Parts: sequence; C-alpha cells; structure tokens
Amino acid sequence: MSTNWAGNIAFDPRRVRRPGTVDELRRLVAASTRIRALGTGHSFSRLIEGPGELVSVAGLPATMHLDGAQVTVAGGVRYGELARYLDGAGYALANLGSLPHISVAGACSTGTHGSGDRNGNLATAVSAVELVGADGDLVTVRRGDPDFPGVALGLGACGIVTRLTLDVVPAYDMRQWVYENLALDRLTGHFADIMAAGYSVSLFAGWTAPRIDQVWLKRRVDEPGAADAPPVRWGATLADGPRHPIPDLPPEQCTEQLGAPGPWYTRLPHFRLEFTPSSGDELQSEFLLPRASGGAAVAALAGIRDRLAPVLQVCEIRTVAADELWVSPSYRRDSVALHFTWVKDAAAVDPVLAALEERLAPLDARPHWAKLFRAAPPPYPRAADFVALLRRYDPAGKFRNEFLDRYFPA
Ligand SMILES: Cc1cc2nc3c(=O)[nH]c(=O)nc-3n(C[C@H](O)[C@H](O)[C@H](O)COP(=O)(O)OP(=O)(O)OC[C@H]3O[C@@H](n4cnc5c(N)ncnc54)[C@H](O)[C@@H]3O)c2cc1C
Repeated sequence: MSTNWAGNIAFDPRRVRRPGTVDELRRLVAASTRIRALGTGHSFSRLIEGPGELVSVAGLPATMHLDGAQVTVAGGVRYGELARYLDGAGYALANLGSLPHISVAGACSTGTHGSGDRNGNLATAVSAVELVGADGDLVTVRRGDPDFPGVALGLGACGIVTRLTLDVVPAYDMRQWVYENLALDRLTGHFADIMAAGYSVSLFAGWTAPRIDQVWLKRRVDEPGAADAPPVRWGATLADGPRHPIPDLPPEQCTEQLGAPGPWYTRLPHFRLEFTPSSGDELQSEFLLPRASGGAAVAALAGIRDRLAPVLQVCEIRTVAADELWVSPSYRRDSVALHFTWVKDAAAVDPVLAALEERLAPLDARPHWAKLFRAAPPPYPRAADFVALLRRYDPAGKFRNEFLDRYFPA
C-alpha cells in the first residue's frame, strides 16, 4: 500500500511491515523506535500517519473463534469476513458500519459506528483487547480493567492490536426500505420519532434542495411492525426500486432493499463487500453532537446548504448510543452523527469545512477521529486519563505521531 484508500495520504511502501506471526511482530515492535499500526487504510485523517514504521497485522493468521456469547478475532480480519463466519455459526454482531471492508482493529480504534438509537459504536462490542505493547510484550486488557475504556478505542496509541474479543448475539434477519423526499420541517419537528423508526436509520441529503433525499430504514424482522412499510411516511414516498445514496451511482453496489428479508450482515452495511464502497473518489468528515440537538443541527446544515452542495457528494445523518470509552466521540452522550462525503478537492472543501465547523461548534460537535476536521475538538472529560494511560503504555512515544501530539500532548 502506498496511499490510504482515499489517496489523500501517502506512505513510503518501504516503511510498511507485514509480519506473519505474533512473535515476529513482537520483535519488530521491541526493536523499533517509532511504529504505528495500519489497518485497511480507510481513514482520511492524519491519525493514520506515522513518522517511522507502519505495521499491518493483516499478515497474521486470520483466526476467528466463537466461545459462548463472544468471538475472539484477529485484529486484521475485516468485518465482512467476520460477519460471514458468525452468521454461518448462527451468531451476529449488534451493529456494523456502512462498509464491511474495514479491519476490526482499525474500526474499533477510531470509534467507527453504524446507526441506531440504541446501538453504540463498534468498539462498544469489545470485551477484551490483546496488543503488543511498546516493549514487545503481549498484553490483554479486559472490560472491567481500569485501563479498558482508554484501550478499547485507543487511536492506535496503546500498542499494536493482535486480537479482540467481541460480544455477539443470536443471528437475526433484517429488512431495508428507502423513502424519498422528506421535507425538512417534518424532520426537524419529528427528529426523534424518525430516527427511532427502525433498528438502524440513516438519512441522506445532497443539499441541492431543502430536503432529505433518502431515508434508509433498517428493521429487524423480529421488531414489532417490521414488515409494515406504508407507501407514504412522514410525507416521504417509498422508493419504487433500489437506490444508491449518491444518486448517480449504481444501486447494484448497495445492499438489498425493498423490504426483502435477509441476514443482518447483508442489510446493516449500505455497501456490498464485493464492490468499492461509496464513490471511491472522495474525502469525508463527520461530527457527533448531543442527540437532543438533532433538529438544530439539521437546521444549521440547511442554513449553509448553498455552500455545502457544490462540494458535497452526499451527507448522511445517523444516531449513535452513548458509551463509556474515554475518547469516543459519543462518550457519555446519545449522539446524532452528521457525515459528509465530499468531492475529492481539498482546496475547495477546506473553506466549507471551516464554515460547517463554525455552525456546529455551538452545538458541541466532536469530530470523528478518522475523518477530516480543522478546528481542535472540544475538550473530552477524560482526556487527562487518556494521556496518563499513553504515558504508562508508551513512555517513549513509540506509537505517537503529530496528530496525537497535537490533540493529546504527552
Ligand atoms: C467508504 C467509507 C465508508 C466509511 N463508513 C464509515 C461508517 O459508516 N462509520 C464510521 O464511523 N466510519 C466510516 N468510515 C471510516 C472508517 O470506518 C475508519 O476510518 C476506520 O478506522 C477504518 O478502519 P481501517 O481498518 O481502514 O483502519 P485504518 O484507517 O488503517 O487505521 C485507523 C486507525 O486505527 C489504528 N489501527 C489500525 N489497526 C490497528 C491495530 N491492529 N492495532 C492498533 N491500532 C490499529 C491505526 O493506527 C489508525 O490510527 C468509512 C470510511 C470509508 C472510506
């Protein structure tokens, strides 16, 4: 790999290491002065850069092992592969992000999330993390350990994660529908009801018009009223065929819609594993705000839609449940997440991102660590604990980079 997925961050491929065994990884970390983990490279921010070596755990054995209500999975395994394994054994994860292509370790490290009022980000499913620490030792940190809330979503700063244990639930089937053309006043007036109308709800807008273009409603078949999809809801109309969130792109890339029941992992992500997710030629930003500000946040976006639309491919609005992970953007607050898939033109996007941040700052917006942002995040209540944790786990700053130095100075 010589760039991240988006191509906005370049790596010198000679610096990328791919050990084949945990012992090889341990020796590599012990001998290195600066090293950072690299997942599948789907992040957009400078979090994924490193001044020294970059190490992928994708070459380690891709183990997956179910034990009761938990699965232990190698960090480099991608969610798409894990999901197939779990479903084959009658199990499931409570939630997934919009794409199955990302590694479990990489996604949990950044607080990657899907949607759903009661669904926490993907790191909230983690009950244990095994990592290679700065001295090359293998350490396991478990839910309940004092360090766990800093390690489970650790921004790659605590060590190189080799395995994670995740909570699983019995496999379930889901149905997915798309509604089109939701008027803004209906949304702002009924924000909580609309976002609660399914197990996972996503709203998509291009902001070329003052409306939500698509409402993606994902329901478990065992939810009350799961098969009920009236032709008009909240004034929005049920789509008469499959849709892609970006109107010009082919819906064949997307997971099945029109209410057809199917396994959880073929409905929760928007994109199919076998296709390039999204447009593939893009930049992304995302901000998480207290859920109670959902209506105000939508109004703020509508207020600058003439600036957003020319540089936007699509905006997605989701909900995320509160958690206890110290540097999680949804730490201790039920959140609404405002996502932006931009055109791939940083110079054009940059001033719009600044205007957007200015509008969202009064609403206490926290940026997604893996996506692009400009202004420093508001202070995190447990930032000092996270910094103290990094000092203990990594006293020499082996896993640090400029990004961490800026937002979590040692
Ligand atoms: C098309 C697209 C759609 C997306 N959709 C969503 C979405 O629905 N929701 C959402 O929240 N985000 C989304 N993202 C962002 C994405 O989920 C995050 O960037 C995620 O972190 C990517 O995982 P990765 O495996 O590519 O990690 P990378 O980008 O490679 O790495 C991210 C961070 O994780 C750390 N890391 C990786 N592996 C390890 C390891 N083994 N040990 C320790 N640290 C490690 C790295 O050091 C780095 O800091 C999307 C991105 C793209 C490109």
